Amino acid sequence: MTFLHIGFDDTDSPLGGCTTYLCAKIVEKLSSLNVTFIDYPLLIRLNPNVPFRTRGNAALCLRIKIKKDLEEAVKQIVLEEIKRGANLSFRNTNPGIAFYEGEKIPPALKKLSIKTMQDIVTVKEALKTAKTVGAEIHTLKNTRGVIGALAAIGSLLENDHTYEILTYRVPENYGKPRKLDFASIKNMNSTTSPNTFCNIDDGRVLITPHGPDPILYGIRGETAEIVYAAHNMVISLEPIERWVIFRSNQGTDMHLRLVQNISQVRPYFSVILDGEVCGKPKTIPGGHVIVQIKDSTGKIDCAAYEPTGPFREVIKHLIPGDRVRVYGGVRPASSLHPLTINLEKIEILKLAPLFIKFNPKCTKCGKSMTSMGKNKGFKCKKCGLKSSIFEKSTLEVPRPISEKLYLPPPRAHRHLTRPKERIGKASKKPETMFIPWHYP
Ligand SMILES: [Zn+2]
Repeated sequence: MTFLHIGFDDTDSPLGGCTTYLCAKIVEKLSSLNVTFIDYPLLIRLNPNVPFRTRGNAALCLRIKIKKDLEEAVKQIVLEEIKRGANLSFRNTNPGIAFYEGEKIPPALKKLSIKTMQDIVTVKEALKTAKTVGAEIHTLKNTRGVIGALAAIGSLLENDHTYEILTYRVPENYGKPRKLDFASIKNMNSTTSPNTFCNIDDGRVLITPHGPDPILYGIRGETAEIVYAAHNMVISLEPIERWVIFRSNQGTDMHLRLVQNISQVRPYFSVILDGEVCGKPKTIPGGHVIVQIKDSTGKIDCAAYEPTGPFREVIKHLIPGDRVRVYGGVRPASSLHPLTINLEKIEILKLAPLFIKFNPKCTKCGKSMTSMGKNKGFKCKKCGLKSSIFEKSTLEVPRPISEKLYLPPPRAHRHLTRPKERIGKASKKPETMFIPWHYP
């Protein structure tokens, strides 16, 4: 018997979800060949800050155990399916495909995988790793796809991971509005949340994409069992051609890495950084809110963009002296703005006291007095009392925000962002695979 790991990537696809569809079709084909799947198909999200990326920046991996003489047939199926999908439906798709044979995944591939989630990996680096470990590479047009293909193979998701069941439409319905029973989605959400997550946000359904891609809906959750059960609660008013349960790094924060200080922040990293607010938050055109933080090594701008909605209110209430932990992708400096952390969340570690200054009250009639000029005291306009108090009074006022973690609403989450339902959760690799995990 041989262990074969198959990785592929959708780097240049205009429709982020379609490579999962090719994967679902390959699963069906391979099933009929009697291969043994040793893991669920993996849906791996790569660094969301890479500049030349597609919407989802996803890569996929299938791990199978087969008789040695089936190996060539399997590779043929994979290559043919991907070529056909790429040529017919999505002419801009430019996938890379990688095959790795062996029971254990080499450390070099695991390392590459982590790097593709948190940093920038060059094609040269990926090709070098492929050569070192003896992985077989196929590219259709552009070699960039090999990065994700190898990264998917290198992702074992040995610790934290989540699941997503993806259902697909029949081709006749592509591009038409998706027909699902909304009440059944609400019911599914209230029954299965928080073991499923990001289903609905403020009355808005998040399980359906909006583009012309083949996906009908996807439900994310902690286990394969729960996403399967949730899927069975959703009433679809249109036919479902197929579905597959993927194991994934979505919702795990795997892209984020702790940096010690501001001087270590680099463009395109996704960072966790502690600092102190050092300026008043500013709202800039477009409704984005910018706040600057500092540490002993420097200062950096942090941005809460308009789509993060009410999250911006939290940022607006920050004041100099607040200690915060920021989480987010790093946008390189341009002529318009300096190096900036795009906030995915913020933890307020320590709030500074907030004082307000006000004119003293008249001791005779109680009305607010007005200043007679610098160091000249205050006067009551109502009763004429003059006061020898020369300074405004100060009062500490309660802060409208607290020392806790704040997240934008789920609709503004990145695929990799750990949602509030998953705080403190880290699922472990299951002993056995849940059945059924795909149809047909
Ligand atoms: Zn008065």
